[in-house]
Amino acid sequence: MRLMRGCPFGILSLLSLPAVACLAQVTAVRAQRMLDVKTGRYVSNAVVLVEGDKIIASGSGLTIPANAIVLDLGATTILPGLIDAHTHLMARTPSQGSQNKNYILQLATESEAYRALEGAMDARLTLQAGFTSVRDVESEGSGYADVALRSAIDGGLVEGPRMEVATRAIAATGGYFPLHLSADLLNFPRGAQMITGTDEARKAVREQIYYGADLIKVYADFLDVGSPNTANYNHETLTRDEIRTVVEEAHKGGHRVAAHAMTREGIRNAVESGVDSIEHGTQVDQPTLQEMAEKGTYLVPTSAAISSGYEQAKTPEQRAEMEPIMQSLRAEITNARAAHVRIASGFDAAEDDEQGKNANEIAELVKLGLTPAEAIAAATTTASELMGWQTKVGSLEVGKYADIIGVAGDPLQDVSALQHVTFVMKGGHQVHLERTDTP
Ligand SMILES: [Zn+2]
Repeated sequence: MRLMRGCPFGILSLLSLPAVACLAQVTAVRAQRMLDVKTGRYVSNAVVLVEGDKIIASGSGLTIPANAIVLDLGATTILPGLIDAHTHLMARTPSQGSQNKNYILQLATESEAYRALEGAMDARLTLQAGFTSVRDVESEGSGYADVALRSAIDGGLVEGPRMEVATRAIAATGGYFPLHLSADLLNFPRGAQMITGTDEARKAVREQIYYGADLIKVYADFLDVGSPNTANYNHETLTRDEIRTVVEEAHKGGHRVAAHAMTREGIRNAVESGVDSIEHGTQVDQPTLQEMAEKGTYLVPTSAAISSGYEQAKTPEQRAEMEPIMQSLRAEITNARAAHVRIASGFDAAEDDEQGKNANEIAELVKLGLTPAEAIAAATTTASELMGWQTKVGSLEVGKYADIIGVAGDPLQDVSALQHVTFVMKGGHQVHLERTDTP
């Protein structure tokens, strides 16, 4: 009996039965056009053939096998599933009020188990928004809840994107939220694993990898932007020796290192210590950009998170405080593009009203000077390379996961089309469909 449940080609040929009766089911996704994200050009009359969880053919006007299930998306534009290279699925910090106080309140009132369940909700929102892969760069005080979420998604328990997870992140003692905590609360949870010295740095990397980290995140600096009386205060930072030790230990096992860095010195320390990506990078200078281009260090500017803070500033004082940061951001994108630094898209969703809005970053990158094709590449091919997943995801090519999204409209003309996806397939499994071509 067991033999018949599989695909016994040997027995079939012995009995001269047609082998086709045993072939896996093929699904054909058909649409008016698809975007080749590598060339930035459309392919008309698009067909993607899917078998199991992989793409077995893609192109214009392909012959659809007679036994295939056809998903005809009509006037839709299809693209590879999007990738967010900097998110925090476990973070739902309230957007109103003091960031630090909200952070403390969340750590004090929500268990890691509850945070994981919130993460499951955020994972679903993110997937439904067309993001089929994410690089989750820190669980924000929820310990290893991101590892649990990644496993639950991979095991089919909950719906969500493919995840690379950084777990707890590493910061200098006192160098990340929660700030200004009472000395009486020694065992209060921390937003990152705080270390002092190279031995503790090495130990933290080993622990985090042991408990499931795919990559390591470090805080090369930490600016407490927006807190009253502490505007732009640069908290305790990791030394170059500490960052170098983290990089050495992580790279030994093939794990990459992402560095949160916003100040000129923090960015330089991180790049010279050999990290694989700079997150934010707002005050990056020209020589460091040059070095990043030469070394292949990625930049994940998380520009929407910064510019939305500027747009939401209520008072002239708040706006004035944000103005130099906005100017730095504009210069960062212009100069990084000119220096051919590889830019990956990351929305940095961390607040309660941000989850699932990941495509805002793609739109913001265009506002700041990338072409729509470049911004889409930042959220597909470049992001897949940053994750080391370029053979698995990031384009609609044969052998890759059948992660396919559809949008109405023309994203090369108006990239905001990506902020409303009408079709999402992950690994050959349709997770979202909204008809837009009904008469
Ligand atoms: Zn972040």
